[in-house]
Amino acid sequence: MIITIDGPAGAGKSTVARELAKRLGYRFLDTGAMYRAVAWAALQNQVDLNDEVAIGKLIEAIRLEVGEGWIRVNDVDVTEAIRSTDVTAAVRHVADNPTVRTYLSAEQQRLAGDGDIVTEGRDQGTFVFPQAEHKIFLTATPEERARRRQEQLQRHGSAPTLSEILDQQNQRDYQDAHRPVGRLVKADDAIEIISDGMEIDQVLDRIVELLEN
Ligand code: C5P
Repeated sequence: MIITIDGPAGAGKSTVARELAKRLGYRFLDTGAMYRAVAWAALQNQVDLNDEVAIGKLIEAIRLEVGEGWIRVNDVDVTEAIRSTDVTAAVRHVADNPTVRTYLSAEQQRLAGDGDIVTEGRDQGTFVFPQAEHKIFLTATPEERARRRQEQLQRHGSAPTLSEILDQQNQRDYQDAHRPVGRLVKADDAIEIISDGMEIDQVLDRIVELLEN
């Protein structure tokens, strides 16, 4: 069975998808990490981020391996490195690239195979797995997402203001909603959960309830 969880940055998709997979004994796929790994490779190889053709070639030249909680590019473990601010700033160029999207979408379908999986991203229920049995669109208001992000950053010792975080988040939301291919949109048959005021466990309970009905 395939369960897709799509939604904007900061809605809690990764945590929810990982925990849901654990509860159900399914595999978990973080597709954002795959886009991030390609962006990491582009930076590492000094590929011009605005050169669509060069980025398209890069994806064919690298070896990407994805596991539960880890990701490797040409045998280098980049699990931590892909979370850097440089990668976060660069990733939109690879996510906008049609060659990269075609390649990674096929790879995601191959990884899912015919097994049980919870897959998380922006286009999982719409484009990559339109046939998925269960589709969740997980979101929260911009203010709530920014507030959560601020708490997370504070725990790591950095303290941007809420309005700085909101500005960056608005930019990412715009990019996600306007990319030429694979843009973030709720699938017609997805169930929307707005997680404002909900703890992770409450979101999980809600999803499990939906799966049972
Ligand atoms: O979710 P995360 O922030 O790790 O995603 C990294 C980047 O990859 C984001 O810019 C997001 O828009 C993009 N992405 C995508 N399609 C996916 C997953 C992520 O375009 N399925």
